[in-house]
Amino acid sequence: MDNIVEVHNVGMNYQSPNGEITALKDISFSVKEGEFVSIVGPSGCGKSTLLSIISGLISSTSGTVKISGEKVIGTSRKIGYMLQKDHLFNWRTIYQNVMLGLEIRKAVTPEAKERANELLKTYGLFEFKSKYPNQLSGGMRQRVALIRTLVTDPQILLLDEAFSALDYQTRLVVNEDIYTIIKKENKTALLVTHDIGESISMADRVVLLSKRPGTIKEIYEIKFDIDKRTPLSSRDAPEFRHFFQKIWKGLDVHV
Ligand code: ADP
Ligand code: MG
Repeated sequence: MDNIVEVHNVGMNYQSPNGEITALKDISFSVKEGEFVSIVGPSGCGKSTLLSIISGLISSTSGTVKISGEKVIGTSRKIGYMLQKDHLFNWRTIYQNVMLGLEIRKAVTPEAKERANELLKTYGLFEFKSKYPNQLSGGMRQRVALIRTLVTDPQILLLDEAFSALDYQTRLVVNEDIYTIIKKENKTALLVTHDIGESISMADRVVLLSKRPGTIKEIYEIKFDIDKRTPLSSRDAPEFRHFFQKIWKGLDVHV
């Protein structure tokens, strides 16, 4: 499999009123097509900064990022970005929310409309298309946010703490849901989370960042000896605890 994302010696300094802040230092890793990679690390270590650099929203102070072999110099249609808040507009219906990205790109074609309807049907939201976001549960809203991202057909999904606002039970269900959708749609995914369990349950690899300035502390290969892997079945697998303890130790949280 080919590398779809290549991060090479990336560093990031922010200018602030109190001087320069080094957010990231010498970050290198790559992601293969179809792979699911989680990024964990303490709060403020530069996780969001790293995703923003990969997305092309901000540029790094040093190093390069390549997507499918091409150097990132700005935002790209190959990338879909999903954040902690679902950012649905309460005055737009579910369908109008799903179509927002296409409207902004002036890409509302009959094919795109059909794709939106197909996605809504496949993922159980078609009958809610005329409802408004505040009529839906948190989990459903997050699914709408994912469909809005998928409708523009990105190859890579960047998820920044996308599930952190949900309560624990809902989060488990939404993890399962979103994982299944991402795999079915054949997407490559990069998930930033501060939740070790969530990072293991979804990923093929976990990248652990050190506290600021964020550097790569360790990369863990996550493999389970189960037939049909999903986040929930991973959590049940005997290996889960072993990965959890390794990453917990690596994170080195002082209690
Ligand atoms: P994380 O997502 O891991 O919590 P961030 O990437 O948001 O971390 O931030 C990393 C560090 O960079 C933090 O110390 C934060 O205060 C700082 N930072 C982030 N964005 C900016 C900015 N626009 N200007 C100055 N400092 C910033
Ligand atoms: Mg963050």
